[in-house]
Amino acid sequence: MSELNLVLLGPPGSGKGTQGERLNDDLRLPYYATGDILRGAVRDETELGKSAKAFMDAGDLVPDEVIVGVIAERIDSEEARDGFILDGFPRTTPQAEALDAKLAELGREVTTVLLIDVSDDEVVRRLGGRRTCEAEGHVYHVEFNPPKQEGVCDIDGSPLIVRDDDKPEVIRKRLATYHEKTEPLVSYYDGKGILRRVDGARDPAEVTEELRGILDAARS
Ligand code: ADP
Ligand code: ADP
Repeated sequence: MSELNLVLLGPPGSGKGTQGERLNDDLRLPYYATGDILRGAVRDETELGKSAKAFMDAGDLVPDEVIVGVIAERIDSEEARDGFILDGFPRTTPQAEALDAKLAELGREVTTVLLIDVSDDEVVRRLGGRRTCEAEGHVYHVEFNPPKQEGVCDIDGSPLIVRDDDKPEVIRKRLATYHEKTEPLVSYYDGKGILRRVDGARDPAEVTEELRGILDAARS
């Protein structure tokens, strides 16, 4: 089977994490979500976390030079030899260029970019009701995907919290940041002929089915 170097693209709240978890179960490839990596670093108070926290709390992106090395190191690892799933990276044109350069160094390239498309109004609805598991980042929604027991993660029993950046004023800021800094990547990858666009405003299971179909075709 050919390698699958996959990027999940889409606004905050489009369902990258939700879909990534499902694809990850199917594909058995390492899954690198930069938001989760950064939140872990903030929690552990590492140097990375210290340099990222203020940007994250404000709904801004952390500087490219802070995050690029983190991903480059993971991609260049034994576990990622047959491919990987990236969620939340790249988020700027310089990050996309750095990813291409790192992969080229390894004689590889991005195979497929899955764009999960949803409107700004839907993003606000989703992030406003998102609940995140404190331990592992498992994702729920109070209305669209509630846990079996309120406030508790189905998977590991840890408390569900509202992320600091899922507060209404920060949500608007993150959307603006997405449109300004990340949306240009749609044409960047479209120009390379590897972008696949999926309507994310449907039932999660339907979105997963469509993504699986695209990946089956890409892998065969
Ligand atoms: P969401 O999935 O809701 O879009 P993430 O969990 O991916 O949010 O990211 C949370 C925050 O972490 C971002 O708002 C940003 O501050 C920071 N972040 C995550 N990935 C990157 C990245 N590739 N470049 C810069 N900042 C990032
Ligand atoms: P992202 O990683 O892109 O920020 P998430 O996967 O965390 O997005 O999803 C954001 C919120 O929307 C979560 O509360 C999640 O449960 C909910 N959600 C995800 N996909 C759907 C969907 N297709 N329909 C309704 N709600 C969804």
